[in-house]
Amino acid sequence: MAIQITRRDFMNGIAIGAAGVVLHACGSDIEPAAKISIGTPTAFSPPDSSAYYPPTLTGMRGSHVGSFEVAHDLAWRGEKPSQYETLDEHYDLVVVGAGMSGLAAAYFYRKKMGPEARILLLDNHDDFGGHAKRNEFHQDGRMMLSLGGAQNLETPSSFSKAAGGLMTDIGIDDDFVATMDINTPDNFMLAGKLDADNGVAIPGPDGYVTVGGNWNAVMYGGEGYEEKVRALPLPSSEQDILIDFFGGQRDFLEGLSLSEKWDYVNSVSYNRFLLERVGLNEDTLPIMNAIILHLSGFSGWHLTVLEAVGNGASGIKAMGWLGKAAASVGEVFLESLLEVRMFPDGNASVARLLVQKLIPGVAPDMKGPEDVAIARFDYTALDKDEQATRLRLNSTVVGVREVDGKHVEVDYVQQGKPLRVTADHSVLACYNVLIPHLCPEMPERQKEGLRYGVKTPFVYANVQLENGRAFSELGATMFQCPYDPFQWVSTAPSMTVGGYEPPRGPDDPMVVFMMNSPMTITTSDEQGSGRDQLRMGRHKIYATPFASYEQDIREQLQSLLGKHGFNHERDIRAITVNRIPHGYSYPYLALDDPKWEEGQAPHEIGRAQFGRISIANTDSEAIALMDAAFDAAWRAVKEQT
Ligand SMILES: Cc1cc2nc3c(=O)[nH]c(=O)nc-3n(C[C@H](O)[C@H](O)[C@H](O)COP(=O)(O)OP(=O)(O)OC[C@H]3O[C@@H](n4cnc5c(N)ncnc54)[C@H](O)[C@@H]3O)c2cc1C
Repeated sequence: MAIQITRRDFMNGIAIGAAGVVLHACGSDIEPAAKISIGTPTAFSPPDSSAYYPPTLTGMRGSHVGSFEVAHDLAWRGEKPSQYETLDEHYDLVVVGAGMSGLAAAYFYRKKMGPEARILLLDNHDDFGGHAKRNEFHQDGRMMLSLGGAQNLETPSSFSKAAGGLMTDIGIDDDFVATMDINTPDNFMLAGKLDADNGVAIPGPDGYVTVGGNWNAVMYGGEGYEEKVRALPLPSSEQDILIDFFGGQRDFLEGLSLSEKWDYVNSVSYNRFLLERVGLNEDTLPIMNAIILHLSGFSGWHLTVLEAVGNGASGIKAMGWLGKAAASVGEVFLESLLEVRMFPDGNASVARLLVQKLIPGVAPDMKGPEDVAIARFDYTALDKDEQATRLRLNSTVVGVREVDGKHVEVDYVQQGKPLRVTADHSVLACYNVLIPHLCPEMPERQKEGLRYGVKTPFVYANVQLENGRAFSELGATMFQCPYDPFQWVSTAPSMTVGGYEPPRGPDDPMVVFMMNSPMTITTSDEQGSGRDQLRMGRHKIYATPFASYEQDIREQLQSLLGKHGFNHERDIRAITVNRIPHGYSYPYLALDDPKWEEGQAPHEIGRAQFGRISIANTDSEAIALMDAAFDAAWRAVKEQT
């Protein structure tokens, strides 16, 4: 099985280029060493006080200190406590992991077994939602929201019956999805607004050159692309090639028959194609890779030409008849397929809606999706004795085993304390790779399947600025910075969905949202498999301290905004770095992975029911999408009920 390019992915890739803008230059004048460190994390306190509110914590978030050490001791050294205090708590279901899949598993189970069903969710982080986390900032009486991870609802109209039913149950029905679109401004690209202003910023001999227009459209030969390419600080020979490539003037697979072309696009890496057939210089690869780095998590060294194009890379017009046929199909279906919707805190709002359904006391006055973004959650309500459903944070599970075929024991460590609870059933909605360590009794073949995939690492940062004046001068709400640490930079979500009031104008404080992929793009990255590269990226993320990210952020923003009066020392109020070492689920790569028979792919073998234990999470579907998390939960709950 190769990387799954669903029709959805493929069309999204094309769609991103189908749109029009203005962006101005930026200069780089920061001193190399930034001086102030303002992201010092707030000290941890357990959720027994109303002050406990993780969304507002700054500094290193995501995989924060305290969340991963116990699991790493287990996975790397096989170490875990030898004795546990057995709590007087027996549940119908214990769910490991309170991301979208774990929350959905609890929801489906409760729906099926009734509201009295006793359910415990355990998560190793200090907040729920897994990848779907929320970053919240406050200034001058205004709340600003941004994405701490998973961003948007992708084509909710195509969700399965189970996933779609869950969405309707929590209030995100067709009508609400339609209002989300209406309440999203046309200049916010990440929420699927393809005509939004977006540009590219590239360092040149005299500082940064920022090219406006709709850069994504330029890469597909959109209006004015020749002029825009000529403005880039690249040698004219390189510009000539890009113009031919973007515009589709030449067939770069010329000389190959149609079947040879098909073989080529399915067996050669995108970057090799760019170097050998298109003739680009290696130095230009980052420009061509910036899109796929974030949409797929891989550089062009690990995706075939077809996979890259299916994930948004430019080139569809440059493959002669093959590409033109695909592009024309894309245009026909574009409108009906492209359906991206976003809450101002991304899919964290969906997690909040689910949590409030399970435990209404967390936000008793919240009505639903219409005010989910502004509701303050009471974390002290998550884990109360009297509740049928409880959500316990800061709790890393280290063992799950069936005892005498009658029940399961679940061992976990909370704040250094080894604890044990029992349950009739357990759903593991955590990471596949950890499961063999949690359940060493599983058959070897199943454990091998679970160990196969590697998750894609990312870093999402949010930077609170004193005001939006300098950013507003750029003339675009988002741009790619292929040569910078954070390859995508955008304003934070600006929709009025969920009751949210985004900044009203440049004088209001604002949040800048910055996305980093730790994958690199030199030819040496061709060495090793995609999974090797993912492991290296993950290592890089764990090894990078907050201070380095802060330095990068300050330098990059100063380069971008300095010309417009920005001073990082004066204008940055807070930085939140969301470290996501275990990100997208592994999708399989045509260049690395065999074509598995139906039912024989590692994730399919790995997700087999193991007595009273079932496996949810997106790894078990090998698809990094929220609806896949829901589908996995549905399957796991069906197995156990
Ligand atoms: C940066 C990023 C952006 C994304 N954007 C989108 C998007 O726009 N749209 C979309 O549909 N999808 C997106 N995704 C995909 C996202 O992975 C899924 O949508 C979904 O949120 C995954 O849910 P999950 O529950 O399977 O996994 P996770 O969110 O990873 O949740 C698993 C939870 O289990 C916890 N856990 C692990 N081990 C243990 C243990 N031993 N004990 C206790 N807890 C444990 C983890 O820490 C985590 O909290 C994005 C993913 C990433 C990383």
